[in-house]
Amino acid sequence: MKKITLLFLTCLVLQLYAQDHFIIANVKVFDGEAIIEKTSVRIDSGVISEIGASIDTIGTDSIIDGSGKTLMPALSNAHVHAWTPQSLQQAATAGVLNVMDMHGVEPFQLGMRQLKDSTNYARFYVAGYAATAPEGHGTQFGFPVPTLSGPEDAKTFIEARVKANVDHIKIIVEPWKKTLSSETVAAVIKEAHKVKKIAVVHVSRLEDAIDVLTNNADGLVHIWWDNPIEEEQLKSLSKEKTFFVIPTLLTTLKAFESMGEAAQKFMKKEQLLAEVKKLHQAGVPILAGTDPPNLSINYGTDLYKELQLLRDAGLSPIEVLKAGTSNITRAFSLENTGYVKVGYNADLLLIEGDVTEEISAIENVNTVWKKGAKVN
Ligand SMILES: [Zn+2]
Repeated sequence: MKKITLLFLTCLVLQLYAQDHFIIANVKVFDGEAIIEKTSVRIDSGVISEIGASIDTIGTDSIIDGSGKTLMPALSNAHVHAWTPQSLQQAATAGVLNVMDMHGVEPFQLGMRQLKDSTNYARFYVAGYAATAPEGHGTQFGFPVPTLSGPEDAKTFIEARVKANVDHIKIIVEPWKKTLSSETVAAVIKEAHKVKKIAVVHVSRLEDAIDVLTNNADGLVHIWWDNPIEEEQLKSLSKEKTFFVIPTLLTTLKAFESMGEAAQKFMKKEQLLAEVKKLHQAGVPILAGTDPPNLSINYGTDLYKELQLLRDAGLSPIEVLKAGTSNITRAFSLENTGYVKVGYNADLLLIEGDVTEEISAIENVNTVWKKGAKVN
């Protein structure tokens, strides 16, 4: 009996090993920053071990022909609200392997965060509870959230998030409801930075965007809706401050659609796209995010639509791909993902066609690997 078990185990180990060393050959690579025209990438035990036109094939179990295809880092989504593991599964299937939560129920998030090493689930990075005012935006979803009445509450709020071991801090400024004062937002950002966490802010008005960025916010999780920013103002802001923007164009356009007439007072689609272009030209990193499940947006393929909108805004295909990969992993300091580089996790997408020329090719995902294992 013992012998049989041992044999079985040996077979199992061999089988695991057998899927563990492979090469994707003759493939065009977008490495998270730039294009490598025709090369091969070797993966050993879930990690990218070698990249080059002629690489060592000894000890590999399979060579995948990458001709006519593009290899790129797995996507990330910089703005989600995930409530169940199925959401993370839907993301992973579409090649989205890292998702940034922007407000949720901390106790519920624990189990989902533990799926970070499971092949068929996206890694879940959380804000936990967002900072908001009593009766403010974020309090209406049917679960109790801690609220802040003034700057004096900032320290306690951040201490509680640290205790919950959140990855980043989310703040809500939404004047259509009761909202946090500028002083409170400034205090929360300051306390977040003291504990080495980035603070990102929900805004919908330009004046709030300028105010929170002046108070050292690290990023905005939406583009403003109301007025275009003046070139000079953007120039000085982007010179003085370091920040990124997650425009959530798909979300905003869907929100306008659902508002009907009431959306008349906001910018039109072309103006929103122009704002993104201006930010990009000013050197502000643009990050792709879609805010699911709001407005029935899904956790997976709808991110492709956001990438297309960023392309429509005038970002080059390479800049769009960065917005969906390395811009996000760098902004949120995610380790070993977001690039096709030696030593990084083999979090990879193999795409049919040339996605570095035509962004819509992203819809033709051939294979998704998470740490070198195929996502089903
Ligand atoms: Zn959101």
